[in-house]
Formats: sequence, structure tokens, C-alpha cells
Amino acid sequence: MTATDNSWMGRAIALAAARVGKTGGNPSVGCVIVADGVAVGEGVTGEGGRPHAEEIALAAAGDGARGATAYVTLEPCAERSSGAASCSARLLAAGIARVVVACEDASTLAGGRGAMLLRDAGVDFDLGVLSAEAAALYSGYRPRGQR
Ligand SMILES: [Zn+2]
Repeated sequence: MTATDNSWMGRAIALAAARVGKTGGNPSVGCVIVADGVAVGEGVTGEGGRPHAEEIALAAAGDGARGATAYVTLEPCAERSSGAASCSARLLAAGIARVVVACEDASTLAGGRGAMLLRDAGVDFDLGVLSAEAAALYSGYRPRGQR
């Protein structure tokens, strides 16, 4: 993990911070996709909780996502309550080579499984970049399945 990682994660956290409190039962997540030192896509959780940040950033990046790094403030979901493709599956399908995450997601829809899915598929996965800053965003977030 490098100063560059901190800088891109800082951008993802700024995106997420601007939408805290407006994403319903879902946490406000920021995602920045970086290829060759340039942001090719950005996203933040939609108002009311969907779409997820990664979906928006991947759509913006298009083919630019192939081989790129995704910076995400919270572990990508491994399952969606709606039955739609998970963000982990979407990141894989887009050919993302590396995923950098600030905080693990304690909800039952991720809870380490997003990380496992990505790692098992051979994605370079780093957890814990700016984790304290991101955790501050999620201090009011009570994931489903956690009591
Ligand atoms: Zn997701």
C-alpha cells in the first residue's frame, strides 16, 4: 500500500461522505477506478441505497476497467438482497486486476465473502487503506444480520 493508494482512497471516501444519511438502509459507499494513474470511473451509492457505487463506477469506466484498480470504501458485496449480480461478480466480469478496500463489511451480504470471492478469482486484494477514516463514515451503519 502506497501514498498513491491513500490518495485515491481519500477521493473514494470524499464521494461517500457527501452522501452519508441519504442511502436508506444501505451504507454510503464510494468507488474510484484507476487505470495507469488516471481515474476512469467514479461512483457513489445512489440515493435510497442503489445502484451500488461499484456499478456506477464500472459503467463509467467501461472497457477502461480491464486491468485497472478499484478503490472502494467498503468491502464489495458478495450477494444482493434483490438477487442482482453482486459487486464482487461485476468487478470480476469487468476484468478489474486489483481491489483496494478501506473497511470490511460486517453485513451478511458481504462479511468477508466479497473479499474471498475476489481473492479466489486471483484479484490482488488489499484491505485497510484509510480504514479509520472510512470507519467514521459507517459508525451509524447497522448492517442487516448484525445485532
Ligand atoms: Zn454491491
